Amino acid sequence: MRHRFLIGQLSHETNAFSPIRTCLQHFQQRGFLEGPALLEHFTGTHTTLGGFIHAALLQEDELIPSLSASAVPSGLVARDTFAILMQRLEDYLDAASGFDAIFLVLHGAMVAEKIPDAEGYLLERLRRRVGADMPIICTLDYHANVTDRMVENADLLLGLNTYPHVDGWERGAEAHHLAKAILSGAITPANFLVRPPLAPGVVPARTSWGPMEQLMNQALAYEMEPGVINVSAFGGFVYSDIFEAGLSFLATVDRNRERARTIAQKLGREAWRIRHEFQADLKPPRDAVQAALKHPGHPVILADVADNTGGGASGDGTALLAALLEEGARNAAIVTIPDPKAVVEAFAIGVGGTYAGYVGGKIDDQHGPPVWIKGPVRLLSDGRFVYRGPMSTGLTASMGRTAVIETNGIAIIVNEDRFQPVDPEVARSVGIEPLEKKIVVVKSAVHYRASYEPIASKIIEVDGPGLSSPNLERFSFRNLRRPIFPLDCDDFEGRWQDDDG
Ligand SMILES: [Zn+2]
Repeated sequence: MRHRFLIGQLSHETNAFSPIRTCLQHFQQRGFLEGPALLEHFTGTHTTLGGFIHAALLQEDELIPSLSASAVPSGLVARDTFAILMQRLEDYLDAASGFDAIFLVLHGAMVAEKIPDAEGYLLERLRRRVGADMPIICTLDYHANVTDRMVENADLLLGLNTYPHVDGWERGAEAHHLAKAILSGAITPANFLVRPPLAPGVVPARTSWGPMEQLMNQALAYEMEPGVINVSAFGGFVYSDIFEAGLSFLATVDRNRERARTIAQKLGREAWRIRHEFQADLKPPRDAVQAALKHPGHPVILADVADNTGGGASGDGTALLAALLEEGARNAAIVTIPDPKAVVEAFAIGVGGTYAGYVGGKIDDQHGPPVWIKGPVRLLSDGRFVYRGPMSTGLTASMGRTAVIETNGIAIIVNEDRFQPVDPEVARSVGIEPLEKKIVVVKSAVHYRASYEPIASKIIEVDGPGLSSPNLERFSFRNLRRPIFPLDCDDFEGRWQDDDG
């Protein structure tokens, strides 16, 4: 049977410690698409919306595209910006008629000014508008801080199962499959959410390693059992600093909330049992550069995990640039340093001219000071590139106008717009082949692994300053519930297990 779906996307991962107030221009810069332009942009891409669209078109369902707005992770979303986004979504809802279900791609860690649980608020407003009988199906990012309000106001929430996030397309297609099953009456989802008092940083919570690999495998094993619709394990995003931030487990079972409760509680208890395994092994910047220089092979990837733009850090941190210069490293590349001022100057100088000035460290005072460099402008670009790795495959993106400046054997990619440079195509698009470099600095916590692990001779995670550092004691949390592991001593075990249901 054919159905009509209203589809949309609203996505922002909010780092409450970032001084960058997230406004409409940030959404417009990254991607603000409405109506047919949304369908055109995402059809055929390896993204969550792309997966849903693909599955829907196969079954000749009709899609009513509404709004897709996403911004690079940064600070709290301005109240008026969030109001505009909500209003646009509701306008589409009001204008459309005769649709059978709503499908939304949400992040789950968006914080707006005065609205800590932005997605919960959004879903509650949509639910009030469309009534209890309209199926609302959403996907959430693996870094969602899942709240009771989200669960109460959606029929089905599917989390991404991977970090690096390489299964968006599959979750989108799965969401379509399950939406059809709900509409046909074949399944009636019953949800249960458990949040153990655990909030690690993002680095120790990747899903191809350690504790989250174990927990994700268990979740997926439960998902294979009869009657179980979905089991999602979420790493959460502690840097949102909301009450509910951290790990969570959401089980969805056909007509059986008790079974969902048992599964979610088992996962929550297992996470608590292995909590000490959430560890990161980081090297200070100069030690990391020395280790890279001693390593016989190449390229050595130095992951600047604390200056991960994708986690809300500025991305223009200079700790590794300074360390490379101090250690005299050659044949290195830095991917990237967002610095609009340096880009404007490089464009004025032109290819072959000499840049002499500061780069980086300009967005805030938490990622190292600006570093003086002098050297030739090697290349100028409009910054457009196409993702070729496992993440966002096929999607065209732009990092803003971009310049490559070389100093002391270090090629520095400076660009206008903050973004997470997860794909080697970023470097290749400006004439730098990572395979040929001794050292490649990548501003990313975990996502870079999807594309760089297969080509890296060695990966070293670096303990620089920054707003996505896994060293949580460096942050002053204000809203996160306490006590919580690893910030507090862990003798509060009994208290949460008594009332986790
Ligand atoms: Zn994420």
